[in-house]
Amino acid sequence: MYPGGVDPSARTISSKILAIAESATLKVDAKAKALKAEGRPVISFAAGEPDFPTPAHVVDAALAAVKDPANHRYTPAAGLPALRAAIAKKTARDSGWAVDPSQVVVTNGGKQAVYQAFQALLNEGDEVLVPTPFWTTYPEVIGLAGGVAIDVFAGADQDYKVTVEQLEKARTPRTKVLLFVSPSNPTGSVFSPEETKAIGQWALEHNIWVIADEIYQNLVYDMGVDHALSIVEAVPELQDQCILVNGVAKTYAMTGWRLGWMVGPADVIKASANLQSHLSSNVSNISQLAALQALEGDQADARAMQQAFNARRHAIIEGLNAIDGVFCPTPQGAFYVYPDVRGLLGKTWAGRTPTTSLELADVILDECEVAAVPGEAFGPSGYLRFSYALGDADLAEGIARLQAFFRA
Ligand code: GLU
Repeated sequence: MYPGGVDPSARTISSKILAIAESATLKVDAKAKALKAEGRPVISFAAGEPDFPTPAHVVDAALAAVKDPANHRYTPAAGLPALRAAIAKKTARDSGWAVDPSQVVVTNGGKQAVYQAFQALLNEGDEVLVPTPFWTTYPEVIGLAGGVAIDVFAGADQDYKVTVEQLEKARTPRTKVLLFVSPSNPTGSVFSPEETKAIGQWALEHNIWVIADEIYQNLVYDMGVDHALSIVEAVPELQDQCILVNGVAKTYAMTGWRLGWMVGPADVIKASANLQSHLSSNVSNISQLAALQALEGDQADARAMQQAFNARRHAIIEGLNAIDGVFCPTPQGAFYVYPDVRGLLGKTWAGRTPTTSLELADVILDECEVAAVPGEAFGPSGYLRFSYALGDADLAEGIARLQAFFRA
């Protein structure tokens, strides 16, 4: 009846999956890498990925792990006991929450932790308040869990930080979760202790769960502290309604090792571990033992990388703000800057007149061979995200190209 005997409608991809867009950050990064492979001198500010190698003592731990046949086997789906204990210790130290190791699940990168956190909490139609600009993956993951992402936008004029008043305006009887990301991807903004406490108290008062993505927690600058204040440390009463998401990728230059975790109340963590036992089982033992070394071993390399990022942060902010039409606030964390580029739109550059940041990103890729992620990936048009986790020389060259291009 049908060619090949297959009803085409029976082959249709589910509407849930069809609705997912490819990760814009990974897409721009892949495009930049492909152009580079063709021999074009592309400088990529696209992916949030440290240029440094993973610290040698971490790699050595992995080498030793791979040689031990004990590590060629499954571990409990929720992770190696020693690593869960080390994560509990780190959570007590940096997030001010004394959890039992049983309150930790080790995941395939922070991304799986984000996915499982929303799967664990959301029922169909539950609303999640998403401070915007947001990392491109959150709305997709919320939708996959049946939730509805409610964007709450804060612009450059307020350092991209939402206020309690804005959150309160967006609250409805369906509001179940607040997403809290400080330092933020894509803006690098860090909420002050007072702001963090005010938002935490508001969530507590209205019985709203908080999913706090703390993956950039240790990448803060000029704040006189070595980590951003966790919302659960600011408001300890949130411990019954809070999930923390974290991982080794950004602090220890371990993006490719795929090692993250989630921490939360015992029932949520048990449910998430059950989910993971059907989804992916345990994370590679080699990565788990490398992460154990990263967390428990010498921190000198991590500190040195953090200092290098800080120097680059100053260089990129100064370089971008020197371009007429660009306004780049000074973020205190992560390794992103998020300039407002609306002053460059509607003008003609090399014969092209971009009217959106999506088009502007294309122009600078084509004309300057510089890759940045357009604001459309993270919320409204009019912004570009630059990751400054690339090498010093590339950073200087990329900024010089942009300055020369927009001066012309
Ligand atoms: N989280 C990083 C970024 O935002 C890595 C890419 C991704 O997973 O989105 O660039």
